[in-house]
Amino acid sequence: MATYSGGCLCGAVRYRASATPINQRVCHCRLCQRAIGAAFNARVLFRIEDVTFDGVVATAHSSADLKRGFCASCGTTVFSRRDAAGIIGITTGSLDDPSLFKPEMHIFTASKQPWVKIDDGLPQYEHAPPPA
Ligand SMILES: [Zn+2]
Ligand SMILES: [Zn+2]
Repeated sequence: MATYSGGCLCGAVRYRASATPINQRVCHCRLCQRAIGAAFNARVLFRIEDVTFDGVVATAHSSADLKRGFCASCGTTVFSRRDAAGIIGITTGSLDDPSLFKPEMHIFTASKQPWVKIDDGLPQYEHAPPPA
């Protein structure tokens, strides 16, 4: 079991998870694009209780049931969290070792940016993937 540690750009927020991820996905939805400020959100999903945080994390809703968490000082987005489902998606760009990320699928590719060419052979879903 790998340890996933990371933090924000300025170092005020740090996190750590020693757990097997629930899943690892690349989300191309517009909400992720705006929240991350990039073409897609590669995120590792954990149970909320498996991730511990240090520092001041501010949150904002990007939809009714989803909160984005970001460093209150530098603004780095470190997670998206669904409290009702008990899950939290860590942004892989904030990992100390982003190469730990092992993507399993691409989701919401209907809003994928046209210059992003996917050739990794992984499953692609135009919207939400089917329930596991
Ligand atoms: Zn910061
Ligand atoms: Zn998304």
